Amino acid sequence: MRYVDIDELRLRDGWLEEAEAATRAVVQNGAVPGERDQIWRDVKAKLADLLHDKCWFCETPIPRSDNAVDHFRPKGRVSDAKQEHSGYRWLAFERGNFRYACTYCNSRRIDVEHGTSGGKADRFPLVDEAARVYEVDVTTLDFSDLLRTVRKEQPEILDPCDLEDWKLLGCQRENGHPCPTSSDKSVVDRVQKSIEVYHLNHEPTCKQRHREAVMLLEAVREAKAAFLRIDDTNPDTKADFRGIAKRIQRMINRKAPYSGEMIFLLRGQRSPDHPWIRQLLEL
Ligand SMILES: [Zn+2]
Repeated sequence: MRYVDIDELRLRDGWLEEAEAATRAVVQNGAVPGERDQIWRDVKAKLADLLHDKCWFCETPIPRSDNAVDHFRPKGRVSDAKQEHSGYRWLAFERGNFRYACTYCNSRRIDVEHGTSGGKADRFPLVDEAARVYEVDVTTLDFSDLLRTVRKEQPEILDPCDLEDWKLLGCQRENGHPCPTSSDKSVVDRVQKSIEVYHLNHEPTCKQRHREAVMLLEAVREAKAAFLRIDDTNPDTKADFRGIAKRIQRMINRKAPYSGEMIFLLRGQRSPDHPWIRQLLEL
C-alpha cells in the first residue's frame, strides 16, 4: 500500500456542480446513488493515474476493471454497523470517498482452492463502533465539506488516503503473505482486519508479491557484495554497484507493484556497513 493524495485528483469543468446536484437529489429527494453512477465512472481514469494504474489497497496493476471505483464508506448498506445502516449515501458523489480498487479488494470473492475469502463490498469496520454515523441532518449539511460529517469515525481498515496507514502493512519475505510492520496491538488488529476485508492474503496475489520480494532481496544481496567491492581506483566497481542500486530503487518506486511492502523488506536490510540502503529509502 502507498499513500495517495486524493486532493491531486483533477476534475473537469462542472464535475463538482454535478456531484453536488446528485448528492442533493439523494439526500433531499431519496434518489438512488447508483442511478447516477456516471459521475464516479467519469473520474475512474483519473483515479487510476494517481497510483500508476495500480489498486490503491494491494498495489496490483489493474489492466481493466468495470467496478474499479470503490466507495471507502459504502454508499449502500454497511454490514459492519451494529444497527441497520442504509449506507453513507451523502458521500456517494464525494471525491474524498473514492478509492481505486481491483476486483479482489473491492468485491466479495471466495477462493475455495486456497481457503481464503474477502473483498470489501459493503464492509466498513470502525475502531469504535459507538462513533458510527448513521444519518446526517440535511438542513445543516455543508455540501462543500461533506467529509466533516464523519471525522469522528476511525476506520479500522487501513486507508491509502491516510498519510500514515500505508506504513503499517508489510509482507513476509518467505511467502509474500501480508503482515503488520509493528507488533503494537492496535497496528496488528488493524492490519489483520484489513487483510480480511481487502482479501490481501488471496493466494495468487501473495505469489506475485513473493516474486517481487525474491527479486528485491536477490538484488540487495548483489548490491551489498558490489558495495564492498568498490575500489576508488577502479571506476567500474562503482558503476557496477550503481547499476544494481538503480534496479532496487525501481522496485521501491511508487510506480512498482507492491512497492510499499518492498520498502518494508528493504528497511529490514539496513545495516551500518550499508548506508546506501538508508539513502535509497530516503529518496
Ligand atoms: Zn487490490
